[in-house]
Amino acid sequence: MIKVGITGGIGSGKSTACRVFSILGIPVFIADLAAKQLMNTSSEIRDQLIRVFGKEVYLPDRTIDRKYLAGIVFNDPSLLARLNSIVHPVVRKAFDDWCSTKQAPYVLHEAAILFESGFYKNMDKTITVATKLEERIKRVTKRDHLSEELVMQRIKNQMSDAEKIKLADFVICNNEDELIIPQIIEIDKKLRIHG
Ligand code: ATP
Repeated sequence: MIKVGITGGIGSGKSTACRVFSILGIPVFIADLAAKQLMNTSSEIRDQLIRVFGKEVYLPDRTIDRKYLAGIVFNDPSLLARLNSIVHPVVRKAFDDWCSTKQAPYVLHEAAILFESGFYKNMDKTITVATKLEERIKRVTKRDHLSEELVMQRIKNQMSDAEKIKLADFVICNNEDELIIPQIIEIDKKLRIHG
């Protein structure tokens, strides 16, 4: 079974693309969701986060205080790297365990920072969902009720589409005038042959 990483900038449509793969019977591991859940449930993560960021990082109900943590790490790249170095290995192990329970020609690993984190090196193939900037801004401002400025700020913190396209084996274009389902069916066919 081969492992396929799928990524794309904020609002590019990676979750939408993954829903289509899922309909085709492909198991999808959503790394960002797994990371969020593991920060609440993994004692390995909890112990290390408390050691590095203090016990204030958890709320009285033992769930992570995301606002508090974001306030610390988003102003300090070295602390963000530290946070990732604590969370990523546990997510990676969860992904490996998850894979061993699946029987499919291939599985998808969806992550916003697949290339930035270096995790793409553990994948057999990679897919980037690429969408024009104006389109992404329009979709995210509508979906999350955020200002254009804030969305732009988040986009600027991510690797550009051009860089992601260079690194990816497959690209799905998700602009208004392009249909993603036929593109996904083509990629799925190729991946099933590899798998
Ligand atoms: P994020 O990284 O912010 O989670 P994402 O890459 O997973 O975003 P989606 O959530 O799949 O992106 O898509 C962003 C928004 O755009 C959603 O509201 C989705 O329904 C919408 N959308 C995605 N693709 C299209 C499309 N082709 N046409 C119209 N709307 C779309």
